[in-house]
Amino acid sequence: MAETVYILLGSNLGDRERNMEKAVEQLSAIPGLEMVAASSIYLTEAEGMDDDAPAFLNQVIKADYDYLPNELLGALELIEKRLGRIGKGLMQPRTIDLDILLFGDQIIETEQLSVPHRELLNRAFAMVPLLQIDPDIVHPVTKRPVAEFLEENEAQSVLMFKDYVARHI
Ligand code: ADP
Ligand code: MG
Repeated sequence: MAETVYILLGSNLGDRERNMEKAVEQLSAIPGLEMVAASSIYLTEAEGMDDDAPAFLNQVIKADYDYLPNELLGALELIEKRLGRIGKGLMQPRTIDLDILLFGDQIIETEQLSVPHRELLNRAFAMVPLLQIDPDIVHPVTKRPVAEFLEENEAQSVLMFKDYVARHI
């Protein structure tokens, strides 16, 4: 049975908007994945990087996925490689970063994968686009609405870059 998954896209290197477009295109070609919705694209500060690091574009994609979490992670890593990402695991600017925020209600802790994403509830740049798609979504570990974790002052630092929500794409 398919699970509903949420994937966070981030880019702060090169033609960021083009990187996001290419990533969405390639996501839709992943076997067993059917895209359901895409958030707007947001402009966010590069947290935890050098002060002069370029700002990020962020977007969340919602999809139905037929296979296993580690298979999805493998497919995302392949897309990161194809789009020219180097420096995994380093806090370096990247052409594209693809993170699994949620995989249904599953709670996963392996060496390769923490789901829900470990930083989801600390990151306005992940919560704002996620909540744009599904405002009432509940976090499977805390069992509380994600919206309760989004502080207004943080949400304001997440700026609209390209305003649309696509559904059934
Ligand atoms: P970050 O996304 O934290 O900036 P990377 O993209 O370089 O860093 O990922 C580092 C590692 O994080 C990956 O090799 C991957 O195995 C691991 N990881 C753990 N949980 C997740 C998740 N939910 N989504 C994507 N990668 C994850
Ligand atoms: Mg990542």
